[in-house]
Amino acid sequence: MQQAVTVTFWGVRGSVPVAGADHVLHGGDTTCVELRSGSDVVVIDLGTGARALGKALDAATCPAVTVLFSHAHYDHVLGVPFFRPLYRRGTAVTLASALAGGTAAMVADLMRVPFFPVGPTAFLADVTCVDLDPSAAWTTGDGLRIAMAPTCHPGGAHAFRIDTPGGALACIFDHAAGETAVDEVLVAFAAGVDLVVLDAGGAALGGETASNGHSGWRQALALGLATGARSVALTHHHPDCTDGILAAREADVTRTAPHAFLARCGDRVTLGQGGPVRMDAGSAVV
Ligand SMILES: [Zn+2]
Repeated sequence: MQQAVTVTFWGVRGSVPVAGADHVLHGGDTTCVELRSGSDVVVIDLGTGARALGKALDAATCPAVTVLFSHAHYDHVLGVPFFRPLYRRGTAVTLASALAGGTAAMVADLMRVPFFPVGPTAFLADVTCVDLDPSAAWTTGDGLRIAMAPTCHPGGAHAFRIDTPGGALACIFDHAAGETAVDEVLVAFAAGVDLVVLDAGGAALGGETASNGHSGWRQALALGLATGARSVALTHHHPDCTDGILAAREADVTRTAPHAFLARCGDRVTLGQGGPVRMDAGSAVV
C-alpha cells in the first residue's frame, strides 16, 4: 500500500513574526514547511515556525531530519537555534542549501556572539551541513528526489521540488513573480505536482503586484494555477495582513480557484490520495 505523504505548515508569515488578536487564524510564525513520508522528514526553511515543529518531532518517530534552506533571510532561518532535534543525541540532522557562502558558514554566522550566546558546537545531534548544486537533482537514501530552481528575490533564493512515491510538492519562495522568463521556468519546474506552495507576500493592502522581492497574491495564484498543481497554497503572508484581510483575499482566491487556499499555521495536506485535503477545521479544499 502506498505510503501517505503529508505536508504541514508550521510557519506561514513573511518577513517578521507577528502576534496579537488580528493574527490568530493564520498565525504569526515565519516560514517552515514539513513534508513527512513515513519516517522520512524533510523541512523547507526554519523560520520561527521551526520551534513548534521541533517540539513535535520526537526521537522515537523521527531519528533523522533533512532541512532545505531556500535562502538565509531572517524569516527563513531564525528558528535554527530553537530547532529541538539539533540538540538531541542520536538524531541525524542534515542542513542543506545552495547558499553562495555555504550552509555551515550561514549557521555559524547566525549563532555567534553578539547575536546568540552559543554557537553550533552546542548541537548534540549528528549534524551534517551540505552545499547543494542547484543544477543537479538529489535523491536521498530514502528515495525522495529533490530538485531546485532559482527564483527572483534580492540576494537570490531557490525553489524546491520534492518527488516522493506518494506525491510531489513544490515550494516557490521567496519569489517576485512578473519576470516572464523566470516564471516560465518555474511553471515547468513545478508542473503537475500535487501541491505547490507560493510566496504571496506582496503589500498587505491590495497586494496584487510584486513588491520588495515578493509576489502579489494574484501573481502567485496565476503562477500556481499555471503549474497544473492539484492544490495551490499561498503563503509568506505580509506581517500587516490581518485575519480579516486574509479572509477577504481567500474568498477572492477560491472564487477563481476552488483548489487554492491561503495557508494557516497548522494546515496539513495529504498528497496522492484523491487530491490534497486541507485538514484545518475539517474543511476540504480539493
Ligand atoms: Zn521571506
